[in-house]
Amino acid sequence: MKIAIMGAMPEEIAPILEKVGEYKTTKYAGNIYYEAKYNGVDLVIAYSKIGKVFSTLTATTMCEHFGAKKLLFSGVAGAISEKLKVGDLIVATKLAQHDLDITAFGHPFGYVPEGAVYVEADKELIDLSKEVAKEMGKSVQEGIIATGDQFVADEKRKNWIGEKFGADALEMEGASVAVVCDALDVPFFILRAISDAADMDASFSFDEFLETSAVESAEFIMKMVDKLVD
Ligand code: SAH
Repeated sequence: MKIAIMGAMPEEIAPILEKVGEYKTTKYAGNIYYEAKYNGVDLVIAYSKIGKVFSTLTATTMCEHFGAKKLLFSGVAGAISEKLKVGDLIVATKLAQHDLDITAFGHPFGYVPEGAVYVEADKELIDLSKEVAKEMGKSVQEGIIATGDQFVADEKRKNWIGEKFGADALEMEGASVAVVCDALDVPFFILRAISDAADMDASFSFDEFLETSAVESAEFIMKMVDKLVD
């Protein structure tokens, strides 16, 4: 079984590449894919670049071209919930696109015909993450993640997303990856470590905590891989 591990930015996959050690590099469809054998399991690792379009392309490529049968996403996010502080981990139960808007036709935010507002993440992988959290002695929160092609650094926008989607965190890739994996029947798991509070200080907080939060997320993801290999 081949497992895909994806991030959006180089900092999000650097700790993963470091952990696997040796890998083969392949250029494909405008991106770089890293293939490695890790504890007997095949991995394909990549960062997509930021946003829904690039993450859609990478997730699709990992499944359709590289044959990944499960996909794990590791990265950082802005917090909506007051309970999430910088460095905390959130596992997505379901994901929505907060910037998808054809409400002029009477549809709800995040909805297009033949789509769905929310895509649910794989329950077995979420259950596995609970075991991993217990073993690592880490408290990991579960919640709804909202995705859009915007870096949110505004209290009003963040609160609106929280209210409309019941979202606990926001970022720029999760829901698009979810749509791809759901359509291709590939179980997926989206993990994010908080880098900022999506408020007026978000860009400063992001710059300060990107690396440490990305490492938090990556370490947890690699423990998930260890469990999947067992
Ligand atoms: N500093 C980068 C841009 C980062 S965009 C540069 O200049 O190149 C933010 C990235 O982190 C996205 O991949 C997104 O998924 C995540 N993220 C973290 N905090 C976020 C926030 N407040 N709003 C949206 N995305 C956020």
